[in-house]
Amino acid sequence: MAVPRILIVGGGYVGMYTALRLQRRLRHGEAHVTVADLDSYMTYQPFLPEAAAGNIEPRHVVVPLRRVLRSCEILSGSIESISLADRTARFQPHEGPPVTLGYDYVVVAPGSIARLLPIPGLADHGIGFKTVEEAIHLRNHVLGKLDLAASTPDERVRRRALTFVFVGGGYAGVEALGELEDMAADASRYFEGISRGDMRWILVEATDRILPEVGEDMARWTVQELRRRGIEVRTRTLLTSAENGHIVLDDGQEFDAETLVWTAGVKPNPVVAAGDLPLDEKGRVKATAYLRIKGTDFAFTAGDAAAVPDLTRPGMFCPPNAQHAVRQGRRLADNLLATIRGQTCTPYRHKNAGSVASLGLYQGVAQVYGRQMRGFPAWAMHRTYHLMRMPTFNKKSRILMDWTLGLLFPREIVSLGALQRPHEEFKFAART
Ligand SMILES: Cc1cc2nc3c(=O)[nH]c(=O)nc-3n(C[C@H](O)[C@H](O)[C@H](O)COP(=O)(O)OP(=O)(O)OC[C@H]3O[C@@H](n4cnc5c(N)ncnc54)[C@H](O)[C@@H]3O)c2cc1C
Repeated sequence: MAVPRILIVGGGYVGMYTALRLQRRLRHGEAHVTVADLDSYMTYQPFLPEAAAGNIEPRHVVVPLRRVLRSCEILSGSIESISLADRTARFQPHEGPPVTLGYDYVVVAPGSIARLLPIPGLADHGIGFKTVEEAIHLRNHVLGKLDLAASTPDERVRRRALTFVFVGGGYAGVEALGELEDMAADASRYFEGISRGDMRWILVEATDRILPEVGEDMARWTVQELRRRGIEVRTRTLLTSAENGHIVLDDGQEFDAETLVWTAGVKPNPVVAAGDLPLDEKGRVKATAYLRIKGTDFAFTAGDAAAVPDLTRPGMFCPPNAQHAVRQGRRLADNLLATIRGQTCTPYRHKNAGSVASLGLYQGVAQVYGRQMRGFPAWAMHRTYHLMRMPTFNKKSRILMDWTLGLLFPREIVSLGALQRPHEEFKFAART
């Protein structure tokens, strides 16, 4: 009998944890597992703000799939469409012709992408905060703007360089802003003529509060804390234009800014719409509590791209976060195995434990199992929790080393912006 083929679309939280569990539990020759991802690594996204701030070396927040999934086949490239009817997926390697992959079981876990709005100038001028490349870019960019501001006599250029706008007050936006502002404030002592007060950091949020993941008290405290640091928090405010870096808000404010970070929500990865997957009105793959795609017994889904019923809150769906994605990945793997072996599947059930967020060195906010924490204890909890969750002993140790070195030595303040233009020097040499 042919060995069943399992195809996992996406090697992020759900994909990697599913594959890890299958790798551990599958008997020899019981199934062949293929993981297809755009990158050859899984990104531990909750550590991206710390990577952007230089507290953690960016390479340490990613997990190489080929190293941890030794018994799986890893394909780097893009899944372009998934067919349940034919049990195939169209795979496009980074180069060369596309390939049709057949499967007996499929796991659809391509996560989410930034939810952009049709705001003039946003796509050209803004940047998201979901990938390690964006985190590295932002760190170099912010330090580059401090360099620029310290080197120009032009007040207009300086003002523009020192204005940083973040749109979206969820944990990704608040943590990214909190960490980068903290890093820039710390770095500013090495830049002549720039102090914390010379920089303008602005958080723009459309609704009436930030951090919906924590209670109102904690959210209010966070706003006070950010304002105490001189950060402008503008709730009930919309970005209406960002053309040529000229920011226009709907409260009448207008100014120039060279930095615009967009973290105003996510939407399911559009690859789930390319094929015959059943989708809900938000574009998420319809899932059952067993993490099966509705109407099938061979296709599974979970994570940010899936509408998974939340059994602890009847009628609601699990929110798109890592807390659910990790647990769903494990449950999904067990249910897939049970399906292969003709055993009974178990529904996914997890009550949201709460949220932890860091706002910069020694500052944080947390609400875990109803217990609220702020300041240093919350920050320590954020670090401890995520360190424990970080996959592999190797990465845990490296991150711990980064933090220890960070306590002993000042932060690096060099902008390696030229990383994005590695050929410039060589081209210049060729011209002269
Ligand atoms: C900055 C930031 C901070 C966060 N902090 C927290 C936190 O503190 N706590 C928390 O609970 N959650 C947090 N989250 C949310 C959490 O990271 C996500 O909910 C989680 O990653 C979702 O897991 P997933 O497997 O669905 O998607 P992902 O982990 O995003 O994985 C999707 C994978 O699919 C791949 N992929 C996409 N398209 C294709 C394609 N066409 N073909 C092949 N592969 C593809 C991607 O490359 C990616 O590897 C944070 C997110 C961000 C951005």
